[in-house]
Amino acid sequence: PSPAGRGKAAPLDLVSDFPAIPAGWAYLDTAATAQKPQPVVDAIARGYDRTYATVHRGVYQRSADMTLAYEAARARVAAFIGAQAGECVFVRGATEAINLVAHSFAAPRLKPGDRILLSMLEHHSNIVPWQMVAERTGAAIDVVPLTDDHRIDLDAMQAMIRAEHKVVALAHVSNVLGSVLDAKRATRIAHSVGATILLDGCQAVPRVPVDVADIGCDFYVFSGHKLYGPTGIGILYGRAELLGAMPPYQGGGSMIDRVTFAKTSYAPAPTRFEAGTPHIVGALGLHAAIDYVDAIGLDRIHAHETALVARTREALSRLNSVRLLGPDDSAGIVSFVMEGVHPHDIGTILDESRVAIRAGHHCAQPLMEALGVEATARASFGVYNGPADVDALVAGLERVGKIFG
Ligand code: PMP
Repeated sequence: PSPAGRGKAAPLDLVSDFPAIPAGWAYLDTAATAQKPQPVVDAIARGYDRTYATVHRGVYQRSADMTLAYEAARARVAAFIGAQAGECVFVRGATEAINLVAHSFAAPRLKPGDRILLSMLEHHSNIVPWQMVAERTGAAIDVVPLTDDHRIDLDAMQAMIRAEHKVVALAHVSNVLGSVLDAKRATRIAHSVGATILLDGCQAVPRVPVDVADIGCDFYVFSGHKLYGPTGIGILYGRAELLGAMPPYQGGGSMIDRVTFAKTSYAPAPTRFEAGTPHIVGALGLHAAIDYVDAIGLDRIHAHETALVARTREALSRLNSVRLLGPDDSAGIVSFVMEGVHPHDIGTILDESRVAIRAGHHCAQPLMEALGVEATARASFGVYNGPADVDALVAGLERVGKIFG
């Protein structure tokens, strides 16, 4: 990492760490996937050239070394989120993590009459796996509504939760609106009726400090690629006693204790959930990404993104045709609509000005319906963004306004 962004009080100025961001390109789609800093690119390259080998099985030194590196990555993840290494399962991403919990934790426990509690702003990956498990088990799904400023309404959650709710699954930070959940309060409410709570931390881990022990949640999931790491690697955190009591999600090599045709016994967690040769180099890349993020500090990243959000909301609120969505204190993400202009047109015209935003339903169609829109335009920030990116967005939107009269 460059020293430029390291001074305690200085604003972050890290774009030169990111080889895929050319000068003058305002990349405002970090909520979809973050660009990678050079140390992550280097860790991936190093993983495949001088040090590459499989893990866990080799009797030769290179494989033993790679196993140590792979397990060191797990320990690094655990330290980053306040967990124990044995509570962190390497998965493909948040989507796989939620499917794993739905399949191995929820499906064996749920029965007709039981209920699952989600919220109106969930990503499809925190809706569809629960619908699949509800269909299999006869459980029903309830949905916590949003407050007027588009947060998960925890007062409403408190009022509607009851003993039939066995599983609660909520986004820690909304990928559309940036709304930050009071994760500790949500956990207390879930636990007050004995429900198990999963938090979708995809948008939280790159934006706010996360300590799962302090939150007290049962499961926490995130994807590496939104945390400046590689795609294809993510984390399922589960409290040790829960993971230890769950059957495997997939069968195969590496996840067993002993296999005979009569009976197979399984390895303990987390190995039990990592069937097949894992994404070894992905884990090394994630390790480097966490080192990078931690060296900056999530408090600083959050403050940096909060300042960019404030600048954006302030400027957009002065554009008559723009309607801002989400709360003012959103974490690094701003969604908006423009009167008479489809978000896809906004995105296409902004691209001509070298501003990259996301336009669409953001894998949150129920939220679009609740907001009364078909789609939104979304700008989302990362450590490499600065005020100039916001200004480019605003200038681009003024141009959109002129084109559409
Ligand atoms: N949850 C949220 C809040 C997300 O933003 C995303 C990614 N857009 C996901 C889940 C799914 O993550 P992935 O596609 O990496 O599995």
